[in-house]
Amino acid sequence: MRKILLVTGASAGIGAATALKAAAAGYDLALNYRSNTDAAETVAVQARNLGARVILCQGDVANPDDITAMFAQIDAEFGRIDALINNAGVVDQIARVTDLTHDRLRRMFDINVIGTMLIAKEAVLRMQAQGSGGAIVNLSSAAARLGSANTFVDYAASKAAVDIFTKGLSDEVAPDGIRVNAVRPGIILTDIHAKAGAADRIDAIGPNIPLQRAGTADEVADSILFLLSDQASYITGTTLDVSGGR
Ligand code: NAP
Repeated sequence: MRKILLVTGASAGIGAATALKAAAAGYDLALNYRSNTDAAETVAVQARNLGARVILCQGDVANPDDITAMFAQIDAEFGRIDALINNAGVVDQIARVTDLTHDRLRRMFDINVIGTMLIAKEAVLRMQAQGSGGAIVNLSSAAARLGSANTFVDYAASKAAVDIFTKGLSDEVAPDGIRVNAVRPGIILTDIHAKAGAADRIDAIGPNIPLQRAGTADEVADSILFLLSDQASYITGTTLDVSGGR
């Protein structure tokens, strides 16, 4: 039987790459996105061509009503959930701490932290009721270790929260056979940098990474799929750096 996987933020970048690899690996998919319907539909078509049953769940992970609606859709269409990739996330424009505003911090933490936690909660409630375990992978960032001074301290702090949430949740649900891990990508070639007005960061930082290049969304997706898989059956509560040594 194909497992049911929810990927948040699946219309672009790492989420889209992971959705396609998951379809090829035998998962059926609930694909969340916020705004780019055309891109989400393209991912859905590609995943269906790889043999997956796919539903699209438009919704803002920062909005609790949208989360409720998303899981109602999953309940109605699939009636279960076996795996979750908490991938939706944002950075903001480069700023120093002295430039941060309450609005910016609210948005950052509502999406990257509270959305991640509430979606994990809904998935865990269903996995516990099903009684057959499950797997969750949260998207952290190397920023959670580095702090991102002078650029994205708020983003780094939000991802550090994801790291310790991963550990706490994993301990809580390990007795249910639910594994919870995180990946910490470094500089990965997606549009997230351009959205932050910092597309040139890849050229600036890439050569200084020990592996001397930025990573690809496919390379992160491979690590996520591994952590979801039975090959990682004894791995929980860990955070895997996918950062070229940075
Ligand atoms: P991306 O290319 O900007 O894609 C972001 C995805 O998340 C899009 O599908 C977007 O949907 C969705 N999204 C954004 N806000 C959302 C919201 N409020 N509700 C629902 N969906 C939302 O980003 P990425 O580079 O693939 O990053 C994916 C994850 O990896 C993020 O958590 C990011 O922090 C983390 N990460 C990335 C890097 C990197 O270098 N790329 C490094 C470390 C960590 P729409 O476009 O449809 O709105």
